[in-house]
Amino acid sequence: MKTLFPILSALLFAGCTTTPEASRALYARHRASEASGVCHVHQVAMTRKTVPIQYGLPSEIESAHANDARMKRFPFTCRSPLGGCVIEPDAPKTAEVSVCPECVGAEQRWVMSHPDRTSE
Ligand SMILES: [Zn+2]
Repeated sequence: MKTLFPILSALLFAGCTTTPEASRALYARHRASEASGVCHVHQVAMTRKTVPIQYGLPSEIESAHANDARMKRFPFTCRSPLGGCVIEPDAPKTAEVSVCPECVGAEQRWVMSHPDRTSE
């Protein structure tokens, strides 16, 4: 499972920043928060939770704007990681994610103010 996280994170972060350097910096902050157990956005302790991995084509594709907001303003919301379209027989069914209570609240507020997250 620990080897799966970097792959899933890379998929999650793909396309949400403008440069490879920015993407690497965002990924580094995310990994540091995972390691410390403290959300780098809200500076609060996080909990760990096991969630299902979502395989296949997502039913809803968020806009780049929504994805960018998610990664920069509320990165630890207990969201199921995307496992990709190819489902291997031995593919893991679940992943452990970090959950920040402030991120969860920020996401809820953002969703309420952006009802159509699939457009810019
Ligand atoms: Zn947070």
